[in-house]
Amino acid sequence: MKKYVVFFLSILLCLSLVACGTSSNDSGNTASDSSSWKAGTYTASAKGMNGDVKVEVVLDESSIKSVKVLEHQESEGISDPAIEKIPQQIVDAQGLGIDTVSGASFTSKAILEAVTIALKEAGADVDALKKIKGDSSTANKDIETAYDVVVIGGGGAGLTSAITAAENGAKVVVLEKMPAVGGNTLISGGEMAAPGNWLQEKEGIEDSTDLFYEDILKGGDNESDPALIRVIADNALNEAIWLKDEVGVVWEDYMLFFGGHSVKRSLVPKNASGVELITKLEAKAKEMGITILTDTKASALIANSDDKETINAVEAEMNGDTVIFTAAKGVVLASGGFGANIDMRVKYNPEMDDKILSTTSAGSTGDGIVMAEAIGAQLDDMSFIQTYPTCDPETGRLLYVGDVRLEGRSILVNKEGKRFVEELERRDVISKATTETSDGYSYMFWDQASMVASKVDVKHKHEYDSLIDRGLLVKADTIDEAAKHFGIDAEALKETVKNYNEYAKNGKDLEFNKRGELVAFTDGPYYIMKSIPAVHHTMGGVKINPDAQVINTTGDIIKGLYAAGEVTGNIHGTNRLGSDAIADIIVFGRVAGKNAAEGK
Ligand code: ADP
Repeated sequence: MKKYVVFFLSILLCLSLVACGTSSNDSGNTASDSSSWKAGTYTASAKGMNGDVKVEVVLDESSIKSVKVLEHQESEGISDPAIEKIPQQIVDAQGLGIDTVSGASFTSKAILEAVTIALKEAGADVDALKKIKGDSSTANKDIETAYDVVVIGGGGAGLTSAITAAENGAKVVVLEKMPAVGGNTLISGGEMAAPGNWLQEKEGIEDSTDLFYEDILKGGDNESDPALIRVIADNALNEAIWLKDEVGVVWEDYMLFFGGHSVKRSLVPKNASGVELITKLEAKAKEMGITILTDTKASALIANSDDKETINAVEAEMNGDTVIFTAAKGVVLASGGFGANIDMRVKYNPEMDDKILSTTSAGSTGDGIVMAEAIGAQLDDMSFIQTYPTCDPETGRLLYVGDVRLEGRSILVNKEGKRFVEELERRDVISKATTETSDGYSYMFWDQASMVASKVDVKHKHEYDSLIDRGLLVKADTIDEAAKHFGIDAEALKETVKNYNEYAKNGKDLEFNKRGELVAFTDGPYYIMKSIPAVHHTMGGVKINPDAQVINTTGDIIKGLYAAGEVTGNIHGTNRLGSDAIADIIVFGRVAGKNAAEGK
């Protein structure tokens, strides 16, 4: 490791010489003659994921003194590592040959482009500066490697199990391969199904743990392990309260009605975003003294050299080094699913090929499943891969503006202007029906009253603006005008809306028997959003028992190894219902963390 630090320092030294224009860099390219630029403060902007990213670059006669991101509209949490790291790396390297931060590549590129524009304006030779490579890693420090519990993955399940293990007296480390924690949990809406909750009570909605259990079972075509979903159904409400009282998560004062549930039961975190869950969980973990190591990728599970049967260490890659972390009590696998790994998707389900985009975070590559299989874990349900029905046709991102559907305030139509599925059906059913439409898209329609009631334009403003900019969402005064934008049959759409209003008046949807309250459409403006299904959740993974212990291929417990979250299989059957993932990761994160700390 020491060798690495010396190497890193010598690179920095070499780079600063290059920046002074007195030397050439490692590749033999002559650096820019920086004296040719004009000292001063420059600002410039470039397009990021959600809009302009504005930077300020301060130059003196011979060096880049500072780079700052002044303004941006990038997604909170996801873009943070790029905004924190790229400007500093440019200054450290005195060059522009900086790698993008994985998971935040749009934001990274925007910062680099804006700084390039600023430097060009100052008269710098940007081509020469681009040849000066930065060091994207942080130097290894003298890290502690002996813990009671090692958690692999810093998403919702990992952070929850880490906190719970620490609550139970364990010394804990979280290994996260990406530059920031969060995983799919961060980019999710963060909603959590919680039967019998306080908002249901207020709205007079009757619910029970048994009804929730039945919904999960039925929603996954009876393929779930009943013992596992019993644990989720019985504990979801308590753990939602734990998140509120102990972790400080703020739940909004309204619920969403997710497809496939019998009643409205899903709590919504602040701003309807997983950012609320991850920021609070990360803050709590840090407050408890848990070590969180980012840019640290677990590569193998290691068995005790004496009994060869108990997992008691994890091998990880960190800044080019291989580091072994020991776990005196247990290892928790919480590394998420494999939605972003196309080869793995196709291996288990040939239909899920590269033609289908994905909503998932870049870290969802199934590493944990592969590592567990290598030491004999049993895998279950691997072919069950869920697509989310209403995603961005260009990027695959899940469209939260479409949550107007989950408030019961929109319909889905095809290009022919006709409804083609019950709007609150299961995700797999809506996805399949969408794929079978004449052009493979769904068009979500709603009116101004529904926009005001759902506020999706305010709650998800950046996404709303971006969709309008790219012509994927239209707002128009008349139904004719809105339909024309997408070439939808306007006459048929008007007829569809008329019929739907009639169903709303009579309280019964005669076409698709839509559940929940039916609200008639009234005046414009009207909205239509175009979307496609994209890979969202992989239901398959390692087999666990109700104590979150991992089971091997002969049905025995693998001692010392626990798993929670999307890395596990056999919980949601063929199809996970909306908001059940958060219930699952928090409930089983709690179970895994407690049992790992106790070395059960
Ligand atoms: P869950 O909802 O089950 O918590 P997430 O997707 O939210 O799943 O989180 C899983 C986390 O695990 C992600 O942040 C991902 O980057 C991380 N991860 C995946 N593979 C590895 C690995 N090999 N080593 C460390 N972290 C990993």
